[in-house]
Amino acid sequence: MSNAAFLRALGLLLAFVGIWSAAPVRAQAGVAGTPLATCIARVQPGDTVAAMLRASGRFDCSTPQTDFGGGDYWALSAPLARKGLSEPQYVRVISMVQRALTLSVLYADGRIATIPTTSATLSRHIQLGAIAQFALPQHSAPPVRLLWRIEGSANLRGILTGQRIAGTQDVVRANLTMAAIYAAFGGLVLALLLYNLALWWALRFRFQLAYCLMVALLFGYASSSSGLLAWMIPGIDNNDRIRMNMLLLSATAAAAVGFARCFFEERIFAGWLGRYVTLSIALLVSSGIVFVVGSHVDVRTSDRATTVMMLVGLAVTAPILWRAWRRGSRYLAIFAVAWSLPILSAMARLMAAMHLIPDNFWLNNSTILTMAFEAMVSSLAIAYRVQALGVERDAAMAAELRARALADTDPLTGLLNRRAFLERAIGRPERVTLLLVDIDHFKLVNDTLGHDGGDDVLRVFARTLHAAAPNTALIARIGGEEFAIILPADSRLEPDMVLDALRDARMPFDLRVTASIGCCTGTLESEARWKALYRIADKALFDAKKAGRDRARIAPALSVAA
Ligand code: GH3
Ligand code: MG
Ligand code: MG
Repeated sequence: MSNAAFLRALGLLLAFVGIWSAAPVRAQAGVAGTPLATCIARVQPGDTVAAMLRASGRFDCSTPQTDFGGGDYWALSAPLARKGLSEPQYVRVISMVQRALTLSVLYADGRIATIPTTSATLSRHIQLGAIAQFALPQHSAPPVRLLWRIEGSANLRGILTGQRIAGTQDVVRANLTMAAIYAAFGGLVLALLLYNLALWWALRFRFQLAYCLMVALLFGYASSSSGLLAWMIPGIDNNDRIRMNMLLLSATAAAAVGFARCFFEERIFAGWLGRYVTLSIALLVSSGIVFVVGSHVDVRTSDRATTVMMLVGLAVTAPILWRAWRRGSRYLAIFAVAWSLPILSAMARLMAAMHLIPDNFWLNNSTILTMAFEAMVSSLAIAYRVQALGVERDAAMAAELRARALADTDPLTGLLNRRAFLERAIGRPERVTLLLVDIDHFKLVNDTLGHDGGDDVLRVFARTLHAAAPNTALIARIGGEEFAIILPADSRLEPDMVLDALRDARMPFDLRVTASIGCCTGTLESEARWKALYRIADKALFDAKKAGRDRARIAPALSVAA
């Protein structure tokens, strides 16, 4: 893939992701129904549901929930809008770390219905998007007000958030849309995993495994944060689900840093940065463990510790990108594009955690969308890396071919040298004809033209042999002014035709240069056969010289037994 094609593919992908992620935003998938304003009151000894439904004066409607800290709370909704009696209604809230959540419904006739859950039983109500959904019990009078009792609220991001009331249609549409998003995500992850594993199987680059690990963990994270896990393991304690979610989030972050470690060139990580990366991976992995273990003792403190550890761990991306830029990494641009959205979403979530911006459903679920984007672009990045490696490999192969060709040729004439000639000649089972061609009185040529002039004659001589011989011939310069040609035995090239070509060749200063040829036919299965054939051809050459030069002598063919 060329760079231009790569950028085109990237643009297409961006457009696709843009459309894909914008569509559900418009559909308001996970946020079905009407938001419910709620006010908060601390649980006091002796409080009852009936009393709290009447005690609206005790509720605080203005203090941000996170200012209350952890503990037991009441949350009272504003009066509900009257709906037709026949339509079932659902209450949805974002799932949180808490010990118990009890929803009480006050009906117009004064009756109160109660749906109690604990973290151990809440999973049954969890929908995709980690929303807890409760069907309001139907009654002859319409519901007019809702009261939640939240026990053991960790109040990390609030006591009760995302509370909405929705009709059946809203709920079904929201859940279906979320199911479609997660199904698309699951399919994407599966495809990316399979294709990268297959690539790893074929190419064995370490970053491919790191990538697969990251994508697999990302899938684990998405299923535990989406409530998919609660569907797969209906009995799972919701707090444990959230713990597992944190563990998978930190492991995904660690795998992402590990992927960056394997993905960039080794030189980026020289010195302290390599050590910081190792430390970050350790920090990120332990941050999840800290939450899982620590939250049994103190959720808020372990959440803070986890957040700080994650921050310090993920901060390593800044020096990695800086180094990659300073040291001219080829993979920086694609890596930066891939990680831009996850980093923005992580920043937004951190700001929400610090209450600088309001928390919302999409922010909570942005991780899977942005990480899906990251996983896709990273898979393109891998294609780009593989392409770069392919180019490197092709260049290395071409260089080796060039080096080998150089090692095999005689630098003066460009013909094969003796070693390469023998390498190719010996071991052939078929019958061949060997021509030994030696320039006549070459010493005289040198004396007349000088050594450089003699070299020019050698070049023209070699070119003439090359032009006269068929493509199937092996031609070599095997000595100073001695050449060898190996032809298939049935070749129609006669030694006299070679001599004619040489006589006709235009030599420097129109010097007349002739040669003598000794010729013999035989087979070349072994070095011994070569020596035998060479000896006879050399003898024929000697005879040609003795007989007056500028002629060929053909020795009788060498018999197989000889
Ligand atoms: P004959 O006809 O008997 O083959 O005589 P000759 O002079 O060609 O044979 P001889 O083997 O006595 O001399 C070969 C000469 O070729 C000697 C050497 O100086 C010259 N020669 C060998 N290699 C090169 C080379 O690379 N360049 C040049 N210019 N001369 C070379
Ligand atoms: Mg000679
Ligand atoms: Mg000679």
